[in-house]
Amino acid sequence: MQFEPIIGLEVHCQLATRSKLFCSCATTFGVAANHQVCPVCLGMPGTLPVINTLAVDYAVRLALAVGAKLNTRSIFSRKQYFYPDLPKGYQITQYDQPYCEGGEITVDQNTRVRLTRIHLEEDAGKNLHGSDASYCDYNRAGMPLVEIVSQPEITSAVAAADYLRSLRSLVRHLGISDGNLEEGSFRCDANVSLRLKGTTKLGTRCEIKNLNSFRNVERAINYEIQRQGDILEQGGQIVQHTLLFDADSGRTAPMRAKEESHDYRYMPDPDLPPLCLSADRIEKISKELPELPQAMAARFIETYSIPDSSATLLTSDRDLAAYFESVNSMVDGKVAAKIVANWVIGEFLPVATELKWDLTKPNIDAAHLAGLLKLLGDDVISSKIAKTVFEEMLKNGESAKDIVDRLGLTQVTDQSSITALIDQVIDANPEQLRQFLSGKEKIFGFFVGQVMKLSHGKMNPALVNSILTEKLAQRRE
Ligand code: ZN
Ligand code: MN
Repeated sequence: MQFEPIIGLEVHCQLATRSKLFCSCATTFGVAANHQVCPVCLGMPGTLPVINTLAVDYAVRLALAVGAKLNTRSIFSRKQYFYPDLPKGYQITQYDQPYCEGGEITVDQNTRVRLTRIHLEEDAGKNLHGSDASYCDYNRAGMPLVEIVSQPEITSAVAAADYLRSLRSLVRHLGISDGNLEEGSFRCDANVSLRLKGTTKLGTRCEIKNLNSFRNVERAINYEIQRQGDILEQGGQIVQHTLLFDADSGRTAPMRAKEESHDYRYMPDPDLPPLCLSADRIEKISKELPELPQAMAARFIETYSIPDSSATLLTSDRDLAAYFESVNSMVDGKVAAKIVANWVIGEFLPVATELKWDLTKPNIDAAHLAGLLKLLGDDVISSKIAKTVFEEMLKNGESAKDIVDRLGLTQVTDQSSITALIDQVIDANPEQLRQFLSGKEKIFGFFVGQVMKLSHGKMNPALVNSILTEKLAQRRE
């Protein structure tokens, strides 16, 4: 292709406050339709919106974390359009004077994506289309959102998904959003355009709306790059459109011709005073800023001597990072932090993800896993047996020690019984012995395997290796 894609992302992220942005309605997810509404969020005449202080604090926290420039005076505007899920006939948002501008998201050591702006706004309601009629649920109307707008400078679908993962990880670290994609707390619109390689002028873009999984973001963008590329290569022109992505067919389809901002007839909301942020308030929020993912990853690499990739994965989630640190502090130095990291990433995390555990109170808590790892560190069990014990722990939450005692899994470190079993195995396999003695060194592994099999994995592998080496050497003489 002689064209290159340029992608800009707009993320709507729901702030984790208990009440909505301009009224005291609760923000609980999954409540019966229209049970979290009041005259304010239903847009009744004569009502007055009042800004949620905590939502503003959360938004400021995000701005500080991404190094954005805070506007100490910003205003709320009305974005006017008619749609059944918008009871007021306008959305309260920030337009020409948002609360912050600029900043950047760190994706990894070499990749940063600059932001254009972040602004505060309320969410719309939701239309539900049944077979007989369409319904409106206004529970979501007035939910507090920040919209994070990136610069158009992302150049692939994979990079777009990486950016979104970093952003989601960040908002979760900051504790300002649960970043839950399935519940719609983190939604993405992607602007995609192509331009001739080597040129700087942006081509005509299309906007793909409401992508609700990282996988679909990648699929939709790749489809759109291909679609626009085909048109341009045949000498055609891109028509600016707002598109919907259909996850079943994997294609995008036009939803509406793209509106320009003047179509929305933005005007300052006369019901809301300007949003003013005092220096004291910003200072206070800045002091309370938690450790950010990048800094935490750097600390993990330094403190625990674990590989970059492990540190990045562990710190991608604040609760996972806390879990790792607490297991590590409970093993009393009996296993290296690297082993702890491998267990948390390789064994615990896949199960926790699959079973959708809440990482703040997982079914296998830090003390449980630490108990298992201590047995491993003390050579009471081998690492192979440790995995068996872990599987058992999943069934009933029993402690590792109880499982090992109940199933008699204690590792055999007694030299004489290991030696006896090795002699038995060598004698029972004369053909393999002959092959080994004639130079087929690989047969060594066969003997180890037999010993482990007959002992149900309970023999200490290091001892088996050394005694077996010795015994086979004797046979050679
Ligand atoms: Zn309300
Ligand atoms: Mn928006």
